[in-house]
Amino acid sequence: MRLAASAKPFVARGSGGGRCEGCRLVASHCVCALRPQAHTRSGVCLIMGDIEALKPSNTGWLVADIVADTYAFGWSRTAVDPGLLALLADPQWQPYLVFPGEFVSPERVVTDIPHTGSTPEAHGRKPLFVLLDGTWSEARKMFRKSPYLDALPVLSLQPEDVVSHYRLRRSSRETHFCTSEVAALCLALAGEVQAAHALANWLDVFTTHYLSAKRGTPLDRTSAAHRELDALREVNCQDAEQGPAHRL
Ligand SMILES: [Zn+2]
Repeated sequence: MRLAASAKPFVARGSGGGRCEGCRLVASHCVCALRPQAHTRSGVCLIMGDIEALKPSNTGWLVADIVADTYAFGWSRTAVDPGLLALLADPQWQPYLVFPGEFVSPERVVTDIPHTGSTPEAHGRKPLFVLLDGTWSEARKMFRKSPYLDALPVLSLQPEDVVSHYRLRRSSRETHFCTSEVAALCLALAGEVQAAHALANWLDVFTTHYLSAKRGTPLDRTSAAHRELDALREVNCQDAEQGPAHRL
C-alpha cells in the first residue's frame, strides 16, 4: 500500500508487539501462508477519516494485499494531500467515488462501469475506486467537505443483498470490516471476478483468524473460505508454471 507520509509513523509503531509484519495478526494466528495472489488492473484509493484508524484490524490492509495499486490518504477538512490530487488527475485512472447514489443528483450516479479491457468507453483508463474509509458519519462529512471529489462520478453499489449488508454495517463500529467487502464488489463490477473472489475469501479467513485471536476461541482452519483460498492458490500455481512470476 502506498501511504501518505503522515501515515508512516503509525504503521511502524503498529508492526511491533508480537504481531506478524506480513498480516498484522498475532504470530499464532498468522494468515500469510494463505494469502492469495491476484492480478488487478483496477486501483483503490482509500481516504481515511482518521489515519490512526489504519490499525491492524483495518481491512484496508487486505485490499492492499490483493490490489497492487492501493493508495491511502488521511483526510482533513482544512487541507488536501497534493499526492491525492495528483492521483485523481492522473490520466491513467478513471476515478469513481463509491458512495450511495441517493445523496447526489442522478446525473452523477453510475451503477456500472466498463469492464477492464473494453477500452472505447473508458478511453483506456483503468478504474480507480475511491473509498471513504471511516464511520458512516465520517464518510458523510468527507463526502460533503471535499470539493475535489465533487466532479467525480459516483459509483452507487446496486445488488440488493450487498447494499443491505453494507448498510447494516456502515453505521456500526464494525465499519472497517466493510472496506474490503466494498472493494471486492467494485472489482467484480470491473470484471475482475477472480480478484474479487480472492479478496472476499481473504477477508473471510482474516476475520476468522482475527476474531479467534481476539476472543481466544478455537480457530477453524478448514472453513469454506479456507478451502476457497486453497483452490485459488492451486490455480495460481498452475499459472505460475506456464507464465511469468506473479507480481506482488
Ligand atoms: Zn502473517
